[in-house]
Amino acid sequence: MSNIHGFCPHCNADLDGDLVVNYPLSQGYTEDLVLEYVASYEGWDEHGEANRWGRAIALYDRDKDMTTAYRCPDCNETWERK
Ligand SMILES: [Zn+2]
Repeated sequence: MSNIHGFCPHCNADLDGDLVVNYPLSQGYTEDLVLEYVASYEGWDEHGEANRWGRAIALYDRDKDMTTAYRCPDCNETWERK
């Protein structure tokens, strides 16, 4: 299985989260509806049903109007967006 979101540069934690299809499926939606729903998420074209949430926390810069860095949910360290 391939890693989609990479690893924390500080503690090497796996930054792949749950499959994006898991949550709506757990809420009782039919598979057809779920697939329609998750197809709008970034990463679908590349990963399809294997697409996963990223665990890293995006740090948003209001002045630049973009995500400039990420924080690891495990060690709480931050790193610049590449
Ligand atoms: Zn970390």
